Amino acid sequence: MIHYFSSNFKLGVLGGGQLGRMLLAETQKYDIYTLILDADKNAPCAQICNEFHQGSLMDFYTVYQFGKKVDVLTIEIEHVNIEALYKLQDEGVKVFPQPEVLEIIQHKGKQKDFFASNTIPTANYKRFTNLTSLKEKCQLPFVWKSAQFGYDGTGVKVVKTDADLSSLPDTDCIVEELVPFKNELAVIVARNENGDTKTYPVVEMEFHPEANQVEYVICPARIDSAVAEKARAIALKVAKNFNHVGLLAVEMFQTENDDILVNEVAPRTHNSGHYSIEASYTNQFEQHLRSVLNLPLGNTDSKVAGIMVNLVGAEGFTGDVVYRGMEDILEIDGVTPHIYGKKETRPFRKMGHVTIVDKDIDKARKIAERVKKTIKVESRKL
Ligand code: ADP
Repeated sequence: MIHYFSSNFKLGVLGGGQLGRMLLAETQKYDIYTLILDADKNAPCAQICNEFHQGSLMDFYTVYQFGKKVDVLTIEIEHVNIEALYKLQDEGVKVFPQPEVLEIIQHKGKQKDFFASNTIPTANYKRFTNLTSLKEKCQLPFVWKSAQFGYDGTGVKVVKTDADLSSLPDTDCIVEELVPFKNELAVIVARNENGDTKTYPVVEMEFHPEANQVEYVICPARIDSAVAEKARAIALKVAKNFNHVGLLAVEMFQTENDDILVNEVAPRTHNSGHYSIEASYTNQFEQHLRSVLNLPLGNTDSKVAGIMVNLVGAEGFTGDVVYRGMEDILEIDGVTPHIYGKKETRPFRKMGHVTIVDKDIDKARKIAERVKKTIKVESRKL
């Protein structure tokens, strides 16, 4: 029996980026001793966890040896060595989310197969292991996705022309039908070891047209309540069918006919839930802790409408970061910046976010635009 609220309990986290850093704010509330593993000695978590270990998340022995030091092991990024997690699980370490779930989610082909065999609605797709067979069997247009290691749109291409087709890399991939969607939505589900579940309200995501990164996350999504209920029910089904423990962020498309198609899932805290720090009764980071520690889950309702603006590095700037316009946005009611503690900025690198809360969602949306225009993430010198 593990006593989570005792001086001996140790929580390990694979990954020390901004998601880990925001989780650490919650482990401090619960006074939980934390160990973090990350390859970068300057990772956002390095200075603020109890023990920082530098090493590769993909290396078997590094992950195994790190995991042996903790009672519960969780992740903030899914690209980790799965064999080490299986061995740790066999040897009695609690690993949440479970390696069985991570193994499927790490691979977009396996993830889509899982949706198909569990009758989770998703865009039609085919799997390919090389470019030659893909070229023989696919008709333009389609969406190409690398099976592994894509993030924030880097492993995704909309293929419309023969030129697009010939620029594709020769790797394990999936090909999906191009979905004409009217909204991109997300639902975060929390599930603990007892099988208790809670879903957060549906959020709506607006994307940056060139960078393919989320620009605004809006909670609640401005959609019909019947569609929102359908989206929450589908997200819950995904988490239950995985037997997932922890948070599961389910990204979805709302089609022209108001059908919901699951795009992909992330087995962890997620960018689409950052608004919850200011807007919800229980923020996603506290909820993640509650779910991996098998504690009662907190209230997922919002207290106010919340909009999150990602702060990404401006184009043309690389190097030591400076955030311009911060004082101006701090004068506005309901505006809270979060800075991730990354020393260097690069174009489109996620450097922070700002949450805007207001009782009136339209007012919050207007302020969000003002925040977006006012803040610039630049470097001192070019
Ligand atoms: P990543 O894992 O890099 O976030 P996603 O699978 O979420 O990749 O795709 C990134 C973006 O590409 C989506 O948010 C969406 O805007 C677009 N996209 C992905 N799949 C499709 C599709 N089948 N049809 C239309 N657009 C898509």
